[in-house]
Amino acid sequence: MYGRRMQQVSGSCIFESVQLGEIDRVSHLLQQDRGVLKQKGWGGFTALHFAALHGNRPMAELLLNSGADPNIPCDSGITPFHFACRNGHIFIMHKMMQHGADLHIVDKQGKTSLHHAVGGGSVIATQYLWETGMFCFTDADNYKVTPLHLAASTGNSDVVRYLLRANRCTPEAVDHQGATALHVAAENGMIEVCWLLLKSAGLHILHMKNHTGLTPLDLCNKGNTFRHQQLSRILTDFSHRPKDLIPKDSNVMYFWMLLLPSLSGAAVLIIAAALGEYGAILSAVLFPCLAKVILSQYHRLSSFQRLPNPVYLGTLAAGIIHCSACFLYKFLPSFWPAYALFNFSLVHFCVLVGLFWKVLNQNPGQLKEADTDSQFSSIRDLIEAGKSPERFCIHCELIQVDNCKHCRLCDMCIQEYDHHCLFLNQCVGRDNHRIFILFVMSMVMAQLLFILSAVYYLSLKLSGLEMSDWGSLAGREASVLLLTLLNIFSLMWVGWLLVEQLDAISMGTTTYFRQYDNKGPSKRQRLRTILTFLLEGRTRQEHSQSFSI
Ligand SMILES: [Zn+2]
Ligand SMILES: [Zn+2]
Repeated sequence: MYGRRMQQVSGSCIFESVQLGEIDRVSHLLQQDRGVLKQKGWGGFTALHFAALHGNRPMAELLLNSGADPNIPCDSGITPFHFACRNGHIFIMHKMMQHGADLHIVDKQGKTSLHHAVGGGSVIATQYLWETGMFCFTDADNYKVTPLHLAASTGNSDVVRYLLRANRCTPEAVDHQGATALHVAAENGMIEVCWLLLKSAGLHILHMKNHTGLTPLDLCNKGNTFRHQQLSRILTDFSHRPKDLIPKDSNVMYFWMLLLPSLSGAAVLIIAAALGEYGAILSAVLFPCLAKVILSQYHRLSSFQRLPNPVYLGTLAAGIIHCSACFLYKFLPSFWPAYALFNFSLVHFCVLVGLFWKVLNQNPGQLKEADTDSQFSSIRDLIEAGKSPERFCIHCELIQVDNCKHCRLCDMCIQEYDHHCLFLNQCVGRDNHRIFILFVMSMVMAQLLFILSAVYYLSLKLSGLEMSDWGSLAGREASVLLLTLLNIFSLMWVGWLLVEQLDAISMGTTTYFRQYDNKGPSKRQRLRTILTFLLEGRTRQEHSQSFSI
């Protein structure tokens, strides 16, 4: 009787200590009595349940090494291994599998470990389980709930995207109430998930009814949040379209955002020129409004579509077009004859546009299957080699090499990733870094040429004018003043960008992977690295090798 009471006391102590992460105290308690490992507390949880629930790897390892069983079910039939899957902690899952975790166990609702991993929202844990070959993505629980239903209910678009890829799950599958994953997502107001399901299956699933005769739109209309109202408008629009239609991202919206800065900027400049002396006032009012509209844009076109917003690319194109037009129609006629300036600016313009075109069309260095390290073909390989399972890209489903990063806007893994340039709507990486730097340098030269020409142009206009006429001149030349100011600000920013870029290149790395430490090659060596990069476009590995020589 006394012994049993003692065990209950140490049992409650171990639960508290495991939850608080007191590893020394837990170790001490285990030395006193290992029977506490089988002790069940609130909800029928064992100490290992709590360690798995908190994702505490050292604690889970200590308990497992002391003989804890990863297959003991709690009151609802959930095992510590199920909790590890739900938590998405791959190392704990791996350790439990080494200690005999049974992958066949289902909880009282009939949910497998794969259901728990999906419910927890971890694509890596889901993929790791799938690699064992013991699970099927179409497995349903006692209520016919599939992994896709679970992912739809949580609104985790990464998991939904993973489950829909390569036909892993069927969007038409129904649960015991006749509800599809779209019913579940619509009821919870999950716009992006609904969009993914409709893009995958087509609009016909929008007309499927559950056992109470309700469509996903009917369920959405019952919600009263802003998300439900927004989703309701989208689904109502789709419900009037043909059932066999598969919706796509809107290209009309894409081109509208691309052209918006050029068209609106041109409209303001033309109206300002037509107003003569009052042009400056109009520009001073409209341009900040235009800048506010552009700067308040999101990186994507909408909250659910995947297309990146090209408004900054449109802004850069607008800058080049308007400044070139100003140079050609205002500056050059005032300076004429100026053959040297004309020839130089013409050649430079062609180089700038050529580099702009090249950097927009050059692949930044997308990671392909052939580029991956054949040493690692699964998440299990990564764990056993002591590498981070995060190296598995959940979007490309490839194991990343060193200095590789997935860009969510470009939707690809980029080797030697530097940054995603919003003004080019393109990533900068291994294969376009040199072109990017040359383009930035040509932009610096173009901005300097424009600013110097503008200063000379204005000085010509000012000569012979009284100070009292300066105000009316500013009104007439509002477009020149405005474009000059924009060029001065952007020159400061581009100059800073170039310095940052050259600093990273000189260290044989990129701005994203640069590490700030005092050790590094000498200034002379760094300069040589920059020149070699610009002339030959050598990659980082080759730089690193040159450092080690
Ligand atoms: Zn990727
Ligand atoms: Zn990108």
